[in-house]
Amino acid sequence: MSLVLHHLRAQGGRSRAQLAVETGLAKATVSSLVVELIERGLAQESEISRQGAVGRPGVTVELDGTRICGLGLAVHVEYLALVALDLQSNVLHEEVLPLEVDQLTPDQVLDELAGLVAGAHRVLDARGVTIVATGVAVPGVIDLDEGLARFAPNIGWRGIGVRDGLADRTDLDPASIHVENDAKMAAIAEFAHLSDHALRDVLYLTGDIGTGAGIIADGELVRGWSGFAGDVGHLPFDPARTPCSCGRVGCWETQVGLLAFLRRATVEGDPARNRAVRLDDRIRELLRRADDGDLRVRAALARLADDLVAGLSILTDTLNPRAVILGGYFGFAGKYLLEPVGAALAQRWTTPGSEACLVGSRLGLVAAAQGGAQHALDQVYLDPTLAVRERVTDAVQR
Ligand SMILES: [Zn+2]
Repeated sequence: MSLVLHHLRAQGGRSRAQLAVETGLAKATVSSLVVELIERGLAQESEISRQGAVGRPGVTVELDGTRICGLGLAVHVEYLALVALDLQSNVLHEEVLPLEVDQLTPDQVLDELAGLVAGAHRVLDARGVTIVATGVAVPGVIDLDEGLARFAPNIGWRGIGVRDGLADRTDLDPASIHVENDAKMAAIAEFAHLSDHALRDVLYLTGDIGTGAGIIADGELVRGWSGFAGDVGHLPFDPARTPCSCGRVGCWETQVGLLAFLRRATVEGDPARNRAVRLDDRIRELLRRADDGDLRVRAALARLADDLVAGLSILTDTLNPRAVILGGYFGFAGKYLLEPVGAALAQRWTTPGSEACLVGSRLGLVAAAQGGAQHALDQVYLDPTLAVRERVTDAVQR
């Protein structure tokens, strides 16, 4: 079933006979698998009339999955986000809740997350959509097996049981909840969104209070042996040795993180520092000022570009990505960052044809939550039995 479902996603609707030839499965096997996929609401049949053909129109099998969804949740220092995607990755529901997560206890944050899930349940239930799996993004180092945030310094979490805490507060099955690092989840979402399928090596950089990278190498997410790969915000790129939330000094994120940028771009009491307002709106306000010639904001953006180049030079040399995607607030400020950072990186490339292209995130604040939902859907593609068998189909009766 997984093979057939993956094939339908990659290749689009086709006949049973075609599916049998292309997957190498027996025709009878394909037929029974398709029946089961239809019963689970993952596939549907539609009739196509072939031009000039005589007799009955042909029947194609295609993805359905409109009755099920993958749920994605993300914890950020400044906000929580939720995205529900159907099997074809269409957004069914989306929410962003500004929240000072670092000022709350983990229990309070999990309560707020559970509130978002309850709200999504109401919307999805009314549309007859069932949540089959959930992906939760947290800005820190994650223990995948235990669903635990091992260390998330910017929100003060150490050894927090995210999976079990969420399962206790909702009707989500703990086995269906997958916790992962926010940059990795965002990279999954951005990678799924790339229109150019030849792009197999991508570096996603989060722009939040903290900075992290999601590394996709040859189409696969890189975790490292203990899940630490891509935790680039704590690389020592700051010669002034500014103290960092992680306990070390001179980390990259003390320079490129949101707090450093806001400190440079604004003065105390500036509404752009008001954490009750959505982060994208606050950054857009600062960009408007830069457009109007505000020297303070312009200088902060120029400094940010320089500091990004310092780290990205090393990361692109090490990883040789084809695309570098600037996420979070870096993406919102792309107008002032992409050109100077891209030009500075291009100057370093010594071999023509080895350069990376620099782009802004297209998913904005919800990239990590969307990655969580995408990750949840991946579980359904791996194991279609996660979608409950409901319908007895025409195909069975035939
Ligand atoms: Zn650090």
